[in-house]
Amino acid sequence: MKKQEMEKKLQEIMHKRNKIKYKLSKREIAELLREKGINPTSQRVEIAHFIYQKPQHISAEEVLNHLNKEYEKVSQATVYNTLRLFVEKNVVKELIFSSDRIYYDSNTTNHHHFLDLDTGKIYDIPACLIPGPELDKNELGNIEVEEINILIKGRLKTNKNNQENNEIKS
Ligand SMILES: [Zn+2]
Repeated sequence: MKKQEMEKKLQEIMHKRNKIKYKLSKREIAELLREKGINPTSQRVEIAHFIYQKPQHISAEEVLNHLNKEYEKVSQATVYNTLRLFVEKNVVKELIFSSDRIYYDSNTTNHHHFLDLDTGKIYDIPACLIPGPELDKNELGNIEVEEINILIKGRLKTNKNNQENNEIKS
């Protein structure tokens, strides 16, 4: 697929998603939590409301900092426990890049990621754009595959300055 087509498709999908799920009011967030079987305490609503502002990938530290700044002092344990509950109930997706790089994704649909090595920014790539690998069930033994996440690491070509810098460095 050509780059332009891909960007257009990404935009369309994001647009659709924005309308459906993001920028919900706190009352709508409370309703969403209830639907997922979670008791919507004010802290849980605050945390979900923050994560659900837009499609994003944020760390537990970012959630904690936001709450402490904008809302009230919350313990680290509360934030971690809430995020764990959200992952369990599919309110957010957990993205584990390494033991010290764990993110919480407000996009709970099946999708892949592109990590921009220049900025550290993570972009969503809809699953339909990258067909998953054909897995040989016999070779996998007793593993039951739930989902496949592909992480593409690279640099945005439009970022010309960075490219030049990298060329100088190498
Ligand atoms: Zn994502």
